[in-house]
Amino acid sequence: MKGELKQVEKYGAVVWQNVMMDELRKDECLCLNCGSIKECGAASSLYATCKTCDLALAVTRCPRFVRKDQP
Ligand code: SF4
Repeated sequence: MKGELKQVEKYGAVVWQNVMMDELRKDECLCLNCGSIKECGAASSLYATCKTCDLALAVTRCPRFVRKDQP
C-alpha cells in the first residue's frame, strides 16, 4: 500500500482513511461520474453497503458505465 493511512472522524465515528484514495474517489470513481447512477441497481447496493458498514468505495471497472456527456 502506497497511500498514507490515518484515523479521522466521519459522521460521528472514528474511521481509518486511505488519504490518497479518498481524495481521488470523487473525481475517479466510475459510479460518481456515471450518467446512469440514479437508475442503477448495482450502485444502489453499493451505496446501501457503504452506509450500513461505514465504508467509502471507488468503482474502477464496470461494463455498464455511461459517460455523463453521452445521451
Ligand atoms: S452502471 Fe456501473 S458505473 Fe454506472 S452507476 Fe452503475 S455500477 Fe456504477
